Order: sequence, then structure tokens, then C-alpha cells
Amino acid sequence: MRIGIDLGGTKIEGIAIDNHGTEIVRHRIATPAGDYEATIRAIAGLVAYIEDITECTCSVGIGTPGALSPATGLLRNSNSVCMNDQPVKADIEKILKRDIRMSNDANCFALSEATDGAGKGAAVVFGVIIGTGTGGGIVVNGKVLTGPNAIAGEWGHNPLPWSKQNELPGPNCYCGKQGCLETFLSGPGLSHDFYNASSEKKSAVEIVELAASGVQLAEDCLQRYEHRLARGLSHVINLLDPDVIVLGGGMSNVGRLYKNVPEIWGEFIFSDVVNTRLVSPMYGDSSGVRGAAWLNN
Ligand SMILES: [Zn+2]
Repeated sequence: MRIGIDLGGTKIEGIAIDNHGTEIVRHRIATPAGDYEATIRAIAGLVAYIEDITECTCSVGIGTPGALSPATGLLRNSNSVCMNDQPVKADIEKILKRDIRMSNDANCFALSEATDGAGKGAAVVFGVIIGTGTGGGIVVNGKVLTGPNAIAGEWGHNPLPWSKQNELPGPNCYCGKQGCLETFLSGPGLSHDFYNASSEKKSAVEIVELAASGVQLAEDCLQRYEHRLARGLSHVINLLDPDVIVLGGGMSNVGRLYKNVPEIWGEFIFSDVVNTRLVSPMYGDSSGVRGAAWLNN
């Protein structure tokens, strides 16, 4: 039996799945705000709660924003800032008295979809979460590709490729650069683009609805978005040549992307045929916690 824990800024979710991926238990608790020690204890308590129900000692995998630094073993780049620069993995292992696996949430998303989700059976899967940010993960033959710097798949802070004059230098990114893919492709990036065109503040969901109801400014905005996503994913395909690209996060709910983006990307992919499939996730928001469980596989 495998336990997966999804450690988020507001909630910690835990599940146990059996060897077939069938969910046995699911439980959710609030993340102790800004308190590292309490968060570690809460995770251990959640594991104990689940094991009371499964009546066995399970493997434990944890997915979280950020990644363990290969240099120090400390967590970095997490949006739950109290977790940063802490030996999260070692501290949890101490309490649970067993080795655990940890990976970033985009990697867990990609692993879940590659194992028994939308990318099941594919050798190479690129999973990308496009919501408030853009995180990516790569799974090869059922294993997360981590890399010596623990950044494999982190695509969102590459620049938008084949930029047009009016896309340069691009919006400011929190990482300190300008024109990162994330500044165009995240939900806030889409809102920003619509605001530039219309001087109206609309969320990504509202822009999609406006386009569907025939508002031309919103339609133009979504077409720019699709062209940019196609260019961004073409870069990934030229480099990695994945069998499947799975979208996650809020933007994965925009159905037209799966048809329109592959109609555009051929122009930018260095191949006469493109067999890569762009697909919606099977498990959606549950993929983070399921992928965490599959880290022990
Ligand atoms: Zn950036």
C-alpha cells in the first residue's frame, strides 16, 4: 500500500492507494499557517490517521511546490515560505522512522498521469501545470526525471520562443527576467494580455467565456494565447520529443486548446510529422496526491 501526501499552502491532502491505483482512503487537513514544526507534525499525524485505516505500514511519498536542493537537501522555491531552507525530508523521516520520497508537485502530476492516467503506456510524458504559475515535469518509462539540478521539466522560466516584435521584451516575471513563458501562459498572464488589449480586468475563466459568447477582443486574446502555447510546447517537442503532453491546472479546462494548439505547432516543430498527443488530465486536481503515492513504485 502506498501513501501519497500533497503538501499545499492551505491544505495537506493524503491518500492511500493499492497496487492497482485504487484509492482506499482520502483525508484532508488544513496546513498550519507559517509554522514549520507544526506542519511536519501534521504530516506525520495524517500518515498515522491513514495507517489506522489501512492497518499496515505504507510507503510514503510527498509532493510539494519547490524542490529539495541537491546541494543541501533543504527545500527551496516553495510558496509556503516557512518550509524553505528546512530539511523537510529528513525531519519527516525521523518522525515516521522510514525512508520517504519527495518530489515537486508538477513532477507528481506528470507521474500520476503517466502511470495510470491520460499518458498511461507512453514512454515519455511531459506534464505541465498551467494555473497561477507554470510548472512542468518529465516522466520517462514510468520514472520521474529529476536531473542533477532537480529542475528537469521547469519550462515556465524559459523565454517565449519565436517572439514577435510586439512580444518583446515581455512582461516582468517574479524570477527577475522578462518574457518568461509563465508571464504569457499562466492564468494571470492571460488576464494581463486581455487587459493590455481592452483595459478591462478579467480572469482567465471570464475571458474564455467572453470568447465563447462571441466577444472579438477575447477571441483574439485566446488565439494569441494558443499561438504562444503552441510555440512554447514546440520547444519542448524539439528537445524532448515526448509521446504525450498532459495539461493540468486551471487552463487545462479550456477544451479548445487540445484541438487548436496541435493545429498550430507543426509550423515550429522540426519534423514532417508530429505524433505527440496533447491531452487533458484524467485525474485533474487529484494527480498531485496520486503521483506522490506513485513515487514509491
Ligand atoms: Zn520567470
